[in-house]
Amino acid sequence: MKRSITVTEVVTRDGFQIEPEWIDTERKIALVHDLIAAGVRRFELSSFVHPVLVPNMKDAEELFAAFQRVDDVVFCGLVLNEKGAERALAAKVDEINYVFSASETHNRKNSRQSVQQSLTFALRLAEMSKQANIPLNVGLATSFGCPFEGVYSAQKLWPLLEPLAAAGIRSICLADTTGMAHPLQIKETCRQILQRWPHLLLQLHLHNTRGMGLANALAGIEAGVTHFDSSLAGLGGCPFAPGASGNICSEDFVHMLHLCGYETGIDLDRLIACARGLEKQMGRTLPGQVMKAGKTDDLHPADSVPG
Ligand code: ZN
Repeated sequence: MKRSITVTEVVTRDGFQIEPEWIDTERKIALVHDLIAAGVRRFELSSFVHPVLVPNMKDAEELFAAFQRVDDVVFCGLVLNEKGAERALAAKVDEINYVFSASETHNRKNSRQSVQQSLTFALRLAEMSKQANIPLNVGLATSFGCPFEGVYSAQKLWPLLEPLAAAGIRSICLADTTGMAHPLQIKETCRQILQRWPHLLLQLHLHNTRGMGLANALAGIEAGVTHFDSSLAGLGGCPFAPGASGNICSEDFVHMLHLCGYETGIDLDRLIACARGLEKQMGRTLPGQVMKAGKTDDLHPADSVPG
């Protein structure tokens, strides 16, 4: 039996959040419809953050209202604090992604809280989401290293994972927010975590800042991770981390997974068409590579190039 990998599309959140130009709500909705038609079943649709700080997320409520109760499609909303969590609960998101940072410095810049304050809130949010019957995923930004503090070992995460797991939070996403991790580090960290907490639904959110994104994803799969975030055409970055670039690119990731014998449920040709459409809309070259080169099995007539 083929192993299945679950891909959460984050382009409308991580992709659009640093775009300086306003992207119309209708365009966001149309893109998500196209991605659903391509077989994408999980989205991090938007984030409930301050509209002045991240203007392209100011239509979060409208987006969730536009997609409520679409069969078998999950729409997650990202929150960084209590205000965001209240908005997400009111918007009846399918799942809440609460993200805070393993790095004290990055967490203070991102959420103006200490790591301990954020951890305490995560435990409270676990109760709030349980009462609202909305699943909670906790994301740990800069899980592998932070541009202000350096590279972390797996043990850095233990003081966070212990109380989260003890509180019954099952879904944890490790984010390599600024692309500092390398494949052996990913494999070792994920292996140690899954050994200690075998029932955890461990997910990876990888940025391709230093060209190691897909190698890191494969290293995660080797360690037993089955859930990954990715962004169409590789669009994205983090407004609070210097030198950050986009997530691993959805269509490049799916292309690699299918070649390696993994199932995603996604129609790669339609996904590539979505990426090309997005590139045209954004009016500039985007990082995705398969949309430019074509798939490995797209053969060219021998006389199509001079030789
Ligand atoms: Zn990210």
